[in-house]
Amino acid sequence: MKVKVIPVLEDNYMYLVIEEHTREAVAVDVAVPKRLLEIVGREGVSLTTVLTTHHHWDHARGNAELARLRPGLAVLGADERICALTRRLVHGEELQFGAIHVRCLLTPGHTSGHMSYFLWEEDCPDPPAVFSGDALSVGGCGLRLESTAQQMYQSLVETLGTLPPETKVFCGHEHTLGNLEFAQKVEPGNDHVRAKLSWAKKRDEDDMPTVPSTLGEELLYNPFLRVAEEPVCKFTGKAAPAEVLEALCRERASFERAAEPLQPQARALLALQWGP
Ligand SMILES: [Zn+2]
Repeated sequence: MKVKVIPVLEDNYMYLVIEEHTREAVAVDVAVPKRLLEIVGREGVSLTTVLTTHHHWDHARGNAELARLRPGLAVLGADERICALTRRLVHGEELQFGAIHVRCLLTPGHTSGHMSYFLWEEDCPDPPAVFSGDALSVGGCGLRLESTAQQMYQSLVETLGTLPPETKVFCGHEHTLGNLEFAQKVEPGNDHVRAKLSWAKKRDEDDMPTVPSTLGEELLYNPFLRVAEEPVCKFTGKAAPAEVLEALCRERASFERAAEPLQPQARALLALQWGP
């Protein structure tokens, strides 16, 4: 399984997953179809399916044009508001593309119909991958807009947080620096936060993406996965996990407004490749 990381718009990521034996390709969160099709053409793969994490325009706005350009394309997701949707997925459903398996994980929080996609390949030593959209980011998560704190807790801690630790995390936005600056405010004594933040600053200087991380890493520095940890509870002044999460979301939202706007990423790199 090969994953092309394609930076688009202000700070979004679009992905192309390639099954290397059958040369079938699956796209995740198509915001800029022409950009995607250039890469599909260059790779010589056959694009059959779009997996959309949620209905927001910066994740789904390219679906209609892509479907027009590629008749027969399957556009899948869990929310009826996703444009050009051909079939609505349900939680726990499994899909298969050659040797690649996909488990659909409903992860409400940012939106009520947010789906994350867990992928692994049969008879392959490569670690699995999760495409987590705006449910889980490197060092943080998307704003809670449509679900309860309890639902978001289940999505983050129970659904995503229990995936194998070696799982590669491919998220929807390059928000890593801001996320980790907030994580440092929450846990000033956490060495993992400090180390990841200095690494992320270096990546930013080199204009390189910070995806993928691994779930095991996220559990060490991402405060939204660490709501049961003592320093995180202490920061929020709460004890119940969903209440800790709710307080973190509120703090994160005001931190975002106070922070300097991040520099838009340069567009010099058309696509970066992760994996062998
Ligand atoms: Zn969104």
